[in-house]
Amino acid sequence: MVTLVGRATGPPGLLGRVDDCLFCKIVSGEIPGEIVHTTERTVAFRDLNPQAPTHVLVVPRDHYENAAAVAAGDPATAAELVTTAAAVATAEGHDDYRLVFNTGADAGQTVFHAHLHLLAGRDFTWPPG
Ligand code: 5GP
Ligand code: ZN
Repeated sequence: MVTLVGRATGPPGLLGRVDDCLFCKIVSGEIPGEIVHTTERTVAFRDLNPQAPTHVLVVPRDHYENAAAVAAGDPATAAELVTTAAAVATAEGHDDYRLVFNTGADAGQTVFHAHLHLLAGRDFTWPPG
């Protein structure tokens, strides 16, 4: 079930909050997250299963299924995901980092609330697995 709350009066496609969404619950504080940075449109918190010394997820406060939906529905929020990730990287002392949006189950997306992975603090290989 979809419940419209908070900033749900914005542009078309904005869904506000989805009741059974894990990341909506972290944004609202209903379940705990180790939050490292917040902005008007985004929340950044540490990944529960980190894949690098710094592994932070940056999510829009509003519920969108994936990055493309954020960009289509609210370009300012899409940009703020990236600027927030960069701010967290800088705050944690990293000039070099990797940003990843998994989109779709076959690409590794397991939580269907858009999130930008910020990974830093080790060397990364290419191509990714
Ligand atoms: P995806 O696989 O969808 O790109 O990324 C989802 C990420 O969410 C995974 O890296 C996973 O470790 C993380 N994750 C799953 N459940 C939780 C949780 O309850 N809290 C936090 N902080 N991260 C979670
Ligand atoms: Zn959500």
